[in-house]
Amino acid sequence: MKITLPHMGNVYLAAKALFLDLGIEFIIPEFSNKQALELGSKYAPEDICLPYKIMLGSIILSYKAGADTAIITGSCGPCRYGEYCELFKNTFKKLGYNIKLIVIDYPKDIGFKELVNRISNISMASSKKKNEKITAVYNALKVIKLIDYIEMKARNLAGYEIVKGTFKKFLYECKRATFNCESATEMVRVLHEYKAKLDKIPIDKNKEPMTVAIIGEIYTILEPFANLYIEDKLMDLGVSVKKQITPSWWVKNAMLSPFKLNSLHIRLASRQYLSEYIGGHARECIGEAVMASEEGIDGVIQILPLGCMPEIVAKAILPKISRDRNFPIMSLVVDEMTGEAGYSTRIEAFIDLIERRREQNVLYRG
Ligand code: SF4
Repeated sequence: MKITLPHMGNVYLAAKALFLDLGIEFIIPEFSNKQALELGSKYAPEDICLPYKIMLGSIILSYKAGADTAIITGSCGPCRYGEYCELFKNTFKKLGYNIKLIVIDYPKDIGFKELVNRISNISMASSKKKNEKITAVYNALKVIKLIDYIEMKARNLAGYEIVKGTFKKFLYECKRATFNCESATEMVRVLHEYKAKLDKIPIDKNKEPMTVAIIGEIYTILEPFANLYIEDKLMDLGVSVKKQITPSWWVKNAMLSPFKLNSLHIRLASRQYLSEYIGGHARECIGEAVMASEEGIDGVIQILPLGCMPEIVAKAILPKISRDRNFPIMSLVVDEMTGEAGYSTRIEAFIDLIERRREQNVLYRG
């Protein structure tokens, strides 16, 4: 078995840790790029959403590099994500590609037994002992938790940096160093070192940077290529970024969902505007917008792929939250035709707006 998985934010680091520990051959695809998108768009159904196209292209590139099994995550309720697996299978069949798909889904949707069954399809390819396999999973979880924490903190501290670009450089260096490790234990050690280093980077505590929360469709907010590197752009503008949805959040949410203990704060916050799960992460999007308006954040940017059903519903609700709470919210729709220049201009205009708003509020309070 030679395993691969499409990129989705920091997941590749946890995947590398897991496969190294399990002793399974793997291919981490190149970071999502234009080539993957073009390839995916060529074979994808015309009206499918952007994540499908990028993921398809990415899996095809890995297949051509020798992968024979791909792992993808599961359905997220009633939206197109539930069809991804079947669509991938049909496309691979048409193309004559012999590639197996393993779908990791929420236990509440497929049951713990089926989840274990699917995971054992992966672990069967490993000759390690049971306790070593458990350690492998444990280390992979540690890696994702650490890198998500480091990224969250670095992106937040970017607003306070003394030398422009310090935290962005630090973050990329940290990811590179972790990826270059040759064992999961080494990856965990390196991440701990970077976590400690992060605390020592000097910051200007007198700064009061703009703070923006990123919300929206999970793949698009996690995968930098899909959101045209919005978090890097905000860092360059000296903005502190907050994002609750991360791969480690996903893991925790999946574990707690069978007991209905997942994301209680988000569910509570969304209740007034969207009290049901409607697919994707629309409810989380609404809950996060409400919470951001109560947490002293200056504004919220929702990112959604063109035609994303759950996020279109969220997008329709967000203006009401914005009006009710006198709180700036902007939605950015992305697809393969999105032009970077116009996209950046909209982000800069939004930051200008929230800056002026803050200045006026200060003047008004006087
Ligand atoms: S949440 Fe939206 S973008 Fe993601 S799979 Fe569903 S419809 Fe597509």
